[in-house]
Amino acid sequence: MERTLSIIKPDGVSRGLIGEVIKRFEQNQIRIVAMKMVQLTKKQAEGFYAVHKARPFFQSLTDFMCSGPVVVMVLEGENVIQKNRTIMGATNYKEAAEGTIRRDFATDIEKNIVHGSDAPETASFEIGYFFNAFELIS
Ligand code: ATP
Ligand code: MG
Repeated sequence: MERTLSIIKPDGVSRGLIGEVIKRFEQNQIRIVAMKMVQLTKKQAEGFYAVHKARPFFQSLTDFMCSGPVVVMVLEGENVIQKNRTIMGATNYKEAAEGTIRRDFATDIEKNIVHGSDAPETASFEIGYFFNAFELIS
């Protein structure tokens, strides 16, 4: 059994896509074991995306991520890291497969509705960034 961190980004929340995203998780037998809505500070967004610090899009990405509330969830299931990435679609919505969240809703390579951890190590860092052990349903 695996866990991953999902974030509905500010564009997903402001466009009324919270239910749409959660519906796709539920329809794919993914369990939500923690969930909250928060608005990140610039510092918190920078800490979360620290791996991208040297990228040209870092400033813009971290500004975007704290521009409005986000919904943060811990998802659980077999192979859920990859499963969630498949449901999300490629980073660039123009390259995302049909029927994925990003292909259906993203408008921009940056404003791409959702985040999902990409490996067990990043999942564990990212889950710990937002939740403590008592906040996860076992
Ligand atoms: P995420 O980490 O948000 O799940 P990802 O793993 O598909 O997305 P990353 O390469 O980790 O993609 O990039 C993190 C985020 O940075 C992307 O989701 C997107 O919002 C933004 N981003 C990535 N590449 C670019 C780019 N070339 N220009 C602008 N923003 C970008
Ligand atoms: Mg990533």
